[in-house]
Formats: sequence, structure tokens, C-alpha cells
Amino acid sequence: MPTFDQLADAVLAGTPATEADALSVLTAPDDALLPLVAAAARLRRAHFGNTVKVNYLVNLKSGLCPEDCGYCSQRLGSGADILKYTWLKTDEAIEQATAGLRGGATRVCMVSSGRGPTDRDVERVAGMVGALKAEHPDVEVCACLGLLKDGQAERLRAAGVDAYNHNINTAESHHDDIVTTHTYADRVDTVERAQAAGLSACSGLIAGLGESDEQLVEALFALRDLGSDSIPVNFLMPFDGTPLEGTWDLSPARCVKILAMARFVCPDKEIRIAGGREMHLRSLQGLALHVANSIFLGDYLTSEGQAAEADLELIRDNGFVVLGAEDAGAGAGSHDPSIRRRGAGTALAPNA
Ligand code: SF4
Repeated sequence: MPTFDQLADAVLAGTPATEADALSVLTAPDDALLPLVAAAARLRRAHFGNTVKVNYLVNLKSGLCPEDCGYCSQRLGSGADILKYTWLKTDEAIEQATAGLRGGATRVCMVSSGRGPTDRDVERVAGMVGALKAEHPDVEVCACLGLLKDGQAERLRAAGVDAYNHNINTAESHHDDIVTTHTYADRVDTVERAQAAGLSACSGLIAGLGESDEQLVEALFALRDLGSDSIPVNFLMPFDGTPLEGTWDLSPARCVKILAMARFVCPDKEIRIAGGREMHLRSLQGLALHVANSIFLGDYLTSEGQAAEADLELIRDNGFVVLGAEDAGAGAGSHDPSIRRRGAGTALAPNA
């Protein structure tokens, strides 16, 4: 096998990483972590320089979902202690989004729980997006509303939505162990509908669902083949009251290797450290930023993240700058420690 540095040379020269390469990254011994990160960091720097994209979640509708995704605190019958509410009003959504933008976010992710939106739901979100963009014309909006039906992606695009999130979450070969109320093909179909409508595809995975190394590699190559522009990498937060309660398969070093694998396989794509960042990476969050180039600010959908100020400090302390605020120097982001949302935080990124 090539060294990680040689692998980075090859990828930089345009030779895609193979599944065997990805597996070698994932199974690297812990004492090879620093050379691995140094090599992956060369790819990250080549495509994203010293910038970190900051994203902010607005949880439009929380809980009460009829689907049975095993990792999700909002699933059917979940006993997890989360806030449950129906749709936020437009002014509430705008207020939350504005707080995120003040904190340095450039992308707002508008998320609702549920199998998928009705046409009325899509109209509601379209109205919110129009109002948000009227106040903040430069904001990038990603919608995450579940499985899409005919015409819905096109309507969202026409309303000004820039991207659509729908994660494949896990390998096709593992999907049915995790959820039974929809199929892997349903998920892929929604990503493809979004792409066909001109929306940027945001689709990622959740690590720690009991998958094998080979299945993690399978999921990542599926995302590469799907052409996902941004890849949220979630680390399972095993909520009490869900089937995966008590599942702790991850270590901080393992999480860094997963992110590094994503970087080698998809060198020029946005690799976002998503739900479970604080819990699973712990003190290796800074190291992970040398591989990934995107984070969520503050809270997740149904769990609290660290304070927004700590996120911005993490970026600055590791020598990075917030994307979109490069001219303001390393102090980018007008620190708003008050950023906390109603329904704060599923740790699992959007609609997982
Ligand atoms: S991940 Fe989405 S679809 Fe699945 S249970 Fe949670 S809210 Fe429902």
C-alpha cells in the first residue's frame, strides 16, 4: 500500500482513491494518526485553503415523526426527552436564522421532521425562504424536509432554496437494519430529484450504527457516485429511548479516520463534521478541522452542541478563518454566545 503522503500525491494528481485505499485509511493504527491527518490536510488545503464553512440549523418542526429510523430521537415511539412542536412561524424561523448568521454562519439549514413534506408544507417553507432571503440576500439556504414528491424540489428551487439535504446515512447493505419504513432507494431518489431540480445535493452518513468498516467505505463511495456536494458526517449520539441507546462504537481517533477517509475519497467536496462532534471527537475536534472544512454552529436538532463562541474559538485557535469572513481576519464571526434555539439541537444532522 502507498503511504498516506503518496496517496495524497496521487489524489492531488487526479487519481481517485480506491476502496482499498479508503479501507487502509479507516483501519490505520492510532499511532499513524498524525501522518494520516497531515496527508489529508494537504487535500483539504488544496481545495479549501484555511477556511471553515459555518452552517446553522433551524429546526422548523420537531419530533412526532411516523418513520422508524433507529438512531433518531424524533422517530415513531421514541422515548427520548426532546422538545416536540409543529411548524415554527415565519418570524420565529427568521429570528433564529438571523442569530446564526450573526454568529458567522453562511448557510442556514431549515429542517423539519417527518417522512416528507406535503405540498402545503413546501409552500410554507418557500415563504420562509423568500422572507429570509429578502432580509439576507447572500444567505445560502439548504432545506431538509424528508422524501420529496413530484414538483416539490422544483418549487423549493424557484423559492430560492440553494441546496437540499437528505442523507443516505449508511450503506445500502446496512440500511434495512436501521430503518424499515422507507428504503435506501427512496433516499437516493430524493437526492436525485433535488439534483434534477438544480439544487446542490447535501447528503452524508452516520457512523457508529453498527456498520462494518467495509460498509462505511460502501456508504462513502455511494455518496461519491451520487455526486453529493456536501457530505455531513454524523457520529451516532445514542439517545435513550431509541433502539440504538447504549451503542458506543466510536473513539475520537476513529472519528478522525472516518473524516480523513471522506477527504481522500471526495477531496474537493465539503466534508462537514455534523452531529456528535463534541461527544465523539472530544479534544480531537481541532485535529479534525485539518481534515474537514465545515461545521455546524452551536446546537443540533434535538441536542445541545457546545456554545457558538466555543465553535468560533475552535476555528481561530487552529489557524482557520470562517468562510465568508476571510477579510475580517482570524477574528471572523461576531461572537454571539447567546445563540441557542428552541428545540436545540438531534444531534444527527438534518433529517438524517
Ligand atoms: S431521521 Fe427523519 S424520517 Fe427518520 S425518524 Fe428522524 S425525523 Fe423521522
